[in-house]
Amino acid sequence: MASAHAHMGNDPWNVFFLICLIVYVAIRGVFKQRVKGNELMVRRVDGLEKALMLILIPGALLLPVVFLFTPWLGFADYQLPAIARWFGAVLMLASLWLFWRSHVDLGLNWSQSLEIRKGHQLITRGVYRSIRHPMYASIWVWCLAQGLLLENWLAGWYGFVGFALMYFVRTSREEKMMCESFGQEYRDYMQRTGRLFPRTRVKNHA
Ligand code: SAH
Repeated sequence: MASAHAHMGNDPWNVFFLICLIVYVAIRGVFKQRVKGNELMVRRVDGLEKALMLILIPGALLLPVVFLFTPWLGFADYQLPAIARWFGAVLMLASLWLFWRSHVDLGLNWSQSLEIRKGHQLITRGVYRSIRHPMYASIWVWCLAQGLLLENWLAGWYGFVGFALMYFVRTSREEKMMCESFGQEYRDYMQRTGRLFPRTRVKNHA
C-alpha cells in the first residue's frame, strides 16, 4: 500500500542512504573547489551534453530527497527484501570509495563534463591503471545501490536510467576528445585497459 507520510523516519536504510548522499556531494564539492582556478583549454559541452545533465541531476539528487522528506512519491513505493538492502549498502560504500579515489587520482585534471584543462596530464595510475572510467564505474555502482536501498521505483531507479543514457552518449565522445588531445599516448592506454572492467588480455598490435 502506498504510504501517506515521508519515508525518512520509518526506515534506517533511508538514513544510511542520506548520509552516503551527503558524503558523495561533499566529495564532489571539495574537488570542484580545487579545480576551480584551473583554466580550460578545450570545451565540448554541447546541447546534448547539457540536456543529459539536466535529465541526470534531478534523478540522482532531487527525487531521492523528495522521496525521503515528502509523501509525494508514495504512489511508486515497493518493498525490498532485507538482503537487497544489505547488498545495496555494501555496493554504496564501495562506490563512495572508488568515487573518492578517482577524484584523488585525476586531481587537477578532473572536470564535470567534456573538457581539457591547461597543463592537462593523462592519468594512467592508481584506479586509472587498468580501467579508463573508474569514476563512471563508481556512478554505475552508486545507481545500482540506490535502487537496492530506496523502496521506490522513481527515487530508486530514475538515476540508473538517466546515468545509463549519459554514459552511453558521453563515453565514446570523451575517448574521442582524449585521443585528439593525447594521440598515441591515449591510444596505447586504450589498448591495455578496459572501459569499466580490466582487460583480460592485451590486444595484439601485429
Ligand atoms: N571518464 C573518467 C573521468 C571522468 S571526469 C572516469 O570515469 O574516471 C571527465 C573528464 O576527465 C574529461 O573531460 C577528461 O578531461 C578527463 N579525463 C578522463 N580520463 C582521463 C585520464 N585518464 N587522465 C586525465 N584526464 C582524464
